[in-house]
Amino acid sequence: MPVTPIAAKEKIQRDAASKLKVSEQNNHLTSPFITNKHQIIIVGAGLGGLGAAIALLLAGHDVEVFEAASEIGEVGAGIQILPNSSRVLQSWGMKDALEKYATKPSQVNMRHWKGGIISSMNFAASAAQYPGTFYWDFHRANLHKCLLERAVELGARTRVNARVTDVRVSRNGETATVVLQNGERHVADLVVELMALIVV
Ligand SMILES: Cc1cc2nc3c(=O)[nH]c(=O)nc-3n(C[C@H](O)[C@H](O)[C@H](O)COP(=O)(O)OP(=O)(O)OC[C@H]3O[C@@H](n4cnc5c(N)ncnc54)[C@H](O)[C@@H]3O)c2cc1C
Repeated sequence: MPVTPIAAKEKIQRDAASKLKVSEQNNHLTSPFITNKHQIIIVGAGLGGLGAAIALLLAGHDVEVFEAASEIGEVGAGIQILPNSSRVLQSWGMKDALEKYATKPSQVNMRHWKGGIISSMNFAASAAQYPGTFYWDFHRANLHKCLLERAVELGARTRVNARVTDVRVSRNGETATVVLQNGERHVADLVVELMALIVV
């Protein structure tokens, strides 16, 4: 099926504390794909889980994210956004938020141990082949923070200390129940597990 861009009719504003918020009169999101609003649970609030949350919220669904850790955050070092993912992030309305954290390298050189160049790439020349895209580098914590802010701004509900220990699909296959370590059960139309490292 051909993929058509999602139309998100929204207006982003900043309040006095410079926190992002969606203006109430324009908080109306539409998608050419979606006719029913589904209750969706995402397991894991890493880069993948938050990205999925944004995409599903922009498609008009109701999203709750369960995270096992006591706070939502990211550790590690750098991460590079390439032209393909830069298109996705821009379609999620995140370019301005990301730009203030971006490092914009102009060139990468792969060298062997004696210093000679094995290969190199000029990022501007490469990005020019894909107009409207970019090669930007981030500290992971900053990319993650922007994704979290965008997901919350779009209406994601997040829960920490919510370790998922089981997911049970109903007999008719129409719902799934997420079981938390503390015994709570939550029913959803769809459960998306995004736990690169599964901790049970
Ligand atoms: C060294 C390295 C360099 C990389 N560089 C790049 C790059 O330059 N560009 C790029 O695009 N990608 C890069 N990647 C890949 C990218 O980092 C990963 O694909 C991405 O971080 C995976 O995100 P995730 O959300 O799926 O998983 P994670 O970030 O692992 O998040 C999973 C989340 O789920 C939570 N969780 C786990 N178990 C449970 C449970 N039972 N219940 C509830 N929550 C749970 C965890 O606490 C965590 O918050 C790199 C990866 C590595 C290792």
